[in-house]
Amino acid sequence: GLRRVLSPVALGGLALPHRVVMGSMHLGIEDRDDGGAALAAFYAARAAGGAGLIVTGGSAVSRVGAGGVHYSFVNEPADAPRLARVAAAVHTAGGLIALQLFHAGRYAFAASFGLQPVAPSAVPSRFSPDEPRALTGAEVAATIDDFGRAAATARRLGFDAVELMGSEGYLLNEFTSPVTNHRDDEWGGDPARRRAFPLAVLAAVRAAAGTDFPVIYRLSGADLMDGAPDEDEVLALATALAGAGAAALNVGIGWHESRVPTVQALVPPGTWAPYAARIRAAVDGVVPVIASNRINRLAQAEQLLADGAADLVSLARPFLADPELIARSRAGRPVNVCIGCNQACIDRSLTDEAVSCMVNPSAGHEQDLFVAGSGAPGSAGASAGGPAPAAPGSAPGAPGPSGAAGSGGPGATGRRRYAVIGAGPAGLAAARALASAGARVVLYEAGAAPGGQFRLARLVPGKADYGATIEYYAAELAALGVELRLGHPVGPGDRAELAGCAGIVLATGVVPRPVELPGADGPNVLTYPEAFAAADRLGDRVVVVGGGGIAVDLAHLLSHGATDGDERDRFRAEHGLAERPVPVTGGRQVTLLRRGPRIGAGIGRTTRWTLLAALRRRGVLLRTGVRYERITPEGVVLAGGDGPELVGADTVVLAAGQVPADALRPMLAGLAVPYRVIGGAADGAVDAVTAFAAGAAARELLR
Ligand code: SF4
Repeated sequence: GLRRVLSPVALGGLALPHRVVMGSMHLGIEDRDDGGAALAAFYAARAAGGAGLIVTGGSAVSRVGAGGVHYSFVNEPADAPRLARVAAAVHTAGGLIALQLFHAGRYAFAASFGLQPVAPSAVPSRFSPDEPRALTGAEVAATIDDFGRAAATARRLGFDAVELMGSEGYLLNEFTSPVTNHRDDEWGGDPARRRAFPLAVLAAVRAAAGTDFPVIYRLSGADLMDGAPDEDEVLALATALAGAGAAALNVGIGWHESRVPTVQALVPPGTWAPYAARIRAAVDGVVPVIASNRINRLAQAEQLLADGAADLVSLARPFLADPELIARSRAGRPVNVCIGCNQACIDRSLTDEAVSCMVNPSAGHEQDLFVAGSGAPGSAGASAGGPAPAAPGSAPGAPGPSGAAGSGGPGATGRRRYAVIGAGPAGLAAARALASAGARVVLYEAGAAPGGQFRLARLVPGKADYGATIEYYAAELAALGVELRLGHPVGPGDRAELAGCAGIVLATGVVPRPVELPGADGPNVLTYPEAFAAADRLGDRVVVVGGGGIAVDLAHLLSHGATDGDERDRFRAEHGLAERPVPVTGGRQVTLLRRGPRIGAGIGRTTRWTLLAALRRRGVLLRTGVRYERITPEGVVLAGGDGPELVGADTVVLAAGQVPADALRPMLAGLAVPYRVIGGAADGAVDAVTAFAAGAAARELLR
């Protein structure tokens, strides 16, 4: 059950309905020129879905502290109406909301404002190209004052609390670390003086906003940086903050430039719980402790609370994936689980794009909710690739015509029937979008189960949650009455039935690109879907021809090996965070070959480096710029300057891209039924963000 996690708790005088805090996320719409409408709609949807206390994305306390171009500035009067609207909207929806007060320090992209980033000392970072300068003593005092004014403003604008962003390597965290604080004044020089700035900020905030105004302090449970403060120092800061009136301690982990991944899919959920647990033990009940990072299910949160690791948990991305996370969990309904891909959220925020979610493309588009259409057939015709969903940053589109406007709408004759062909990500999303807008939907799938490429992905270490996405969508479709016809490859025999549909979505995905290489048809050669299916039966030495995302996933799967112990222990051991190594058995010798220059070129920025590091740790050989000659029973022969070179293998796997599986196009074109081709069937890409979004956009067929 979820008894603990869904039980009420008090936080700094606020009565929270449950123990899940919605954690801070920068959305990239904080400065949108719409009076705060999109931002308010985003947060209100989460509050309506049961979120109790929401922490906003960071609002910078000064221009020089902004973390990107789309930040809000709490101390600037121009931003006040937007922020006030957010607070009011959340209250109307029944939630509580804390404004996160933020200063990026040396991670600031202050150059966009013609400024130089500031920091305790002039120590450059790997994360930002701009070299910081050291704050003067007077500037330190002014920055403390900025935080104080910000808290008073937050209260005046209607927020219920503030959170001070003191982790992840931002300004407050930089003061506490000897890596970035080389000062020898009252703000640095020894551990006590390195704690002085956070404590001064907390004191200023309480003085300005009132001691009855709750202040959550997000501190770093471990910076995961060479030379970072040790555990004793972290605990000393925690107890000092608790003693100085913080209402709660929210435990973050890692710096943005740390070499240890913290929030990526291959970090086992729950890995960071021990860091919160130590802080909880140290503060000994003086204030509640909130555990954060890589908690993506309430069942894990329940376990974490049962283990005494924390008093509350903070989940952030899971609220992107499912705004109704809490309400659905309370009702025992399936939840759309955050799969930790980062592809539509963190990766986008790093390039100043508006954030959404791969598995829930309506995240960030809460104002655009489609009004069930007239059913009037739109203009027929294929739209290769399908129109993109509302572009991030675009103004919300006008909703479609409402029910009465069209001809031939749903009436006494019953709902109009739509066909979706292919039950991969694009098809699942399309079927759901159409059915939830009121259409009757038949979903055809040639295979024995839905899921498409996600069925392969879920086998990869760290990607098991991709299976949860399939389960969620399947459950949604069942609840919406979608007729799922498994084991039904659509062909000429279905023509008459399709001709009677009001619209058709072709989402048949991709097939592996054929490889024109002598020996590619040998018995020792498999396509990548075959290799995924037979992963436990391949030989000890595997060569993968291809170096894209699927090849990297396959190499990860084949080289991972097994451990008797807990994957969290293994992860910590592999990253130098545990005393003992964890024995691993059964990983294969894998070689990845790519003609091009870059392995895993299409993988998202926050994820690619973690996967390549994992492959290197497991001895996977990554070779780029190769020239293939042929495949033989002994392996793959490459052309080299000194003559042919054999890369020996028991099994050779072809993972050299994909082509659209769109053989049904001509048949659909001859039907005089509006149709669209989406996902991999349209463009040959394996891009789940685009596939889910195009699926969701398929509801436009109803207009
Ligand atoms: Fe989670 Fe991926 Fe959605 Fe981000 S885009 S919230 S990581 S599922």
